[in-house]
Amino acid sequence: MDLPTLAIAALGGTVSMQARNAGGGVIPTISGETLLASVPELSSLARVKIETLGLLPSASLDFEFLLSVLSWANFQIKQGAAGVVILQGTDTLEETATFFDYLWDHPEPLILTGAMRSAAQPGADGPANLLDACRVAMADRSRGRGVQVVMNGQIHSANAVRKSDSLALQAFNSAIVGPAGLMVEDTVRYLRPPCPRKTLPLPLQTSQRIALLEASLSADNLLLENIIAMGYDGLVIAGFGAGHVSGGWADAIEAVAEKIPVVIATRTGSGSTARSSYGFIGSEMDLLGRGALMAGFLCPRKARILLWLLVGCQRQDELALFLAHD
Ligand code: ASP
Repeated sequence: MDLPTLAIAALGGTVSMQARNAGGGVIPTISGETLLASVPELSSLARVKIETLGLLPSASLDFEFLLSVLSWANFQIKQGAAGVVILQGTDTLEETATFFDYLWDHPEPLILTGAMRSAAQPGADGPANLLDACRVAMADRSRGRGVQVVMNGQIHSANAVRKSDSLALQAFNSAIVGPAGLMVEDTVRYLRPPCPRKTLPLPLQTSQRIALLEASLSADNLLLENIIAMGYDGLVIAGFGAGHVSGGWADAIEAVAEKIPVVIATRTGSGSTARSSYGFIGSEMDLLGRGALMAGFLCPRKARILLWLLVGCQRQDELALFLAHD
């Protein structure tokens, strides 16, 4: 039988971690090739090509490295892969998924997965997640859905997924919308049709800086007042509630928004920013009037990635369009 080709890249993360010595913490050491041996079932489903592109904790991934991973993934599709799976750490999975999703313009699926328990722990979830991710990547029904995250039997869309627990096995959720699909026994079941997507070209530059500041009670203005002088090209605020800040911050944000794009998201972890509910100083209506934009359902971290990519391809004028879309 002619099996489909599946390309897998390993970047590191808990899925690849074990301790060098007793009592030492786990660190990324296990190659993709070794991880593949933990899912022998795969060899009857696909012709697998696996490469270890990195052995990094996901906190140390950066945009330049992700662009090189993207170029590897694009090449795999060009060579005929039916889908691509990326194995990485879960700490920044919600951000890398968004990064790739804005740049992934193939109908073929790009699936991200990892593990909450290291390879050495009893009940390690890496092999099951890898097998599920491969099944999702090869399913015809996954085509046209862009980048998705597969963890603990659930399939999440890149623009909604969030790590919402630090250590639990069930660490990922998609607030409001829920998972896009589930693994039911060995099959991939979607719960809703694919959504229209908006993608971007590759950035022309990578030196742009986008700051992310979280509003907090009685916070001072020092960082806000120095954002421009420090050379930032854009600012995302994780605001209170429906996209609010203090009166002091509102004045500082107005001055920043005259120079660089400012996006206000919600720090709550669920729900959309408002547009026309509150009128106090520092409310969403006030901030819109001062030149900031509201992120809608896009969380602060994902909004920062969108802004970095838009500035990178000199399309920051389309920020409002992209935010309305998400
Ligand atoms: N705890 C993390 C993980 O789940 C470490 C990392 O993100 O690399 O993989």
